[in-house]
Amino acid sequence: MTQYDYDLITIGGGSGGVRASRMSATHGARVALVEAGALGGTCVNVGCIPKKLFSYAAHAASDFADARGFGWSLAGAQFDWNTLLANKDREIARLNGVYAKVLQDAGVEVIAGHARVVDAHTVAIGDRVLTAAHLLIATGGHAVKPDIPGAELGITSDQAFHLDALPRRVVLVGGGYIAVEFASIFNGLGVETTLLHRGERLLRGFDDDLGKVLAEELAAHGVTLALKEAPVGLVRDGENLRLMLDSGRSIETDLVMFATGRRPSVAGLGLAEVGVKLAKNGAVLVNDYYVTSVPSIHAIGDVIDRVQLTPVAIAEGMALARTLFKNDPAVLDYSNIATAVFSHPHIGTVGMTEAGARERHGAVDVYRTRFRPLKATLSGSTERVFMKLVVARDTGRVLGAHMVGAEAGEIIQGLAVALNCGATKAQFDATIGIHPTTAEEFVTMRG
Ligand code: FAD
Ligand code: NDP
Repeated sequence: MTQYDYDLITIGGGSGGVRASRMSATHGARVALVEAGALGGTCVNVGCIPKKLFSYAAHAASDFADARGFGWSLAGAQFDWNTLLANKDREIARLNGVYAKVLQDAGVEVIAGHARVVDAHTVAIGDRVLTAAHLLIATGGHAVKPDIPGAELGITSDQAFHLDALPRRVVLVGGGYIAVEFASIFNGLGVETTLLHRGERLLRGFDDDLGKVLAEELAAHGVTLALKEAPVGLVRDGENLRLMLDSGRSIETDLVMFATGRRPSVAGLGLAEVGVKLAKNGAVLVNDYYVTSVPSIHAIGDVIDRVQLTPVAIAEGMALARTLFKNDPAVLDYSNIATAVFSHPHIGTVGMTEAGARERHGAVDVYRTRFRPLKATLSGSTERVFMKLVVARDTGRVLGAHMVGAEAGEIIQGLAVALNCGATKAQFDATIGIHPTTAEEFVTMRG
């Protein structure tokens, strides 16, 4: 039998790669993990974590405004961008250390450098050549800018985490997760914010009502929405930038951030050369067990472009470790994956959209409510909560739960358990609410 240096070499120390490596080592495998940048990958360094910290900073502005209605006076409240950056960087450095320690404690050897696949069992990191029974590609994805002249003058979310100073004006291009989250962040921090989206509805793929309600709420919070217009060019205009649109008009601004999607990171990995089949956009093609067209090479996370979310990459990593090293083949169920968008207000959603449910189940009952939350009665906030349940008419099963409002992600996480257990609307109705909360509306919605 061939003797390899390791049982598993993982390329990429992000959400998926770290968890797959750690669990594989826990199941007894000899594991090396190669990371070209900082441990923790996108989520820890330029994704979920710093984004949510920025989102808290932005929400503080409305918390201050809300507090006045409860009797507080907060004269002289000031925001300092550099303090936020420094505190955020300190937390990320701490998390990088935590990741290094958990890997070390599990017995995973961490190798710094850029890895390239040489053959079905061999990886090169510069001059160093290592072999393993299994290779794992967990290299994630990267932001892509539209192919327009001057695109290099705009930034992506990567640079947004390190701006020297906040701009006076910003244009966010895109209508997905990152565009609406950063529109809310910049707007909350006092930047004049425009959200430019080529479509009519934000958040394509989400329940239609969510995009519609979010657009209304963003506008009410002061974000300028430019819908059904696409960028065609970006130029420097003296001190300013000018974004040209297909409608013929242009927008003068100080900063343009493209949030126009992400693509799998496979450049320079040598995958096609060793026979690993890729999709048109570079995504590594895998079967249910994350095996590529080369049996010893596996792939998980954003690089397979199924669901680009950290908990999904982690779940894929754990399933793979079980399959390879615990003799317990695991196939992940991708239905009912709850997700939140940390816009202002938040979105939380799980299960089917109304349109998707109608397509699959035919007759569905839809319950909607939109109301001013109790807090707004004194705070004076005009923000309204939106909630929706999509129910199969034949079985009564709740197929989808959707929300726009404060802490929507926290609320929907619990409902995701109910949906995964197959809860019916009658069971929602038989559940006694917690009063006074926003969440109780989910168990008191009537047709
Ligand atoms: P990554 O975390 O991207 O890790 C890949 C790693 O591979 C990187 O560290 C990279 O340096 C390394 N690498 C690449 N090529 C090589 C090579 N050749 N050699 C060595 N190393 C290599 N998801 C959520 O669930 N919630 C959120 O709130 C959320 N917010 C986000 C906000 C932003 C701005 C972005 C961009 C993403 C966000 N995501 C969020 C998505 C989430 O970050 C990703 O789904 C997740 O990080 C994917 O994990 P991964 O392991 O597949 O890849
Ligand atoms: P998305 O795919 O969510 O959105 C991309 C947006 O850009 C879409 O609105 C798309 O429009 C638009 N777009 C694409 N190409 C162009 C173009 N050439 N010109 C104009 N507009 C264009 O990608 P994001 O970058 O926002 O996020 C990537 C992924 O990261 C998300 O899908 C999500 O999985 C993950 N993520 C998760 C977060 C969370 O969990 N809270 C937060 C941030 C990211 P159209 O709809 O018309 O195609």
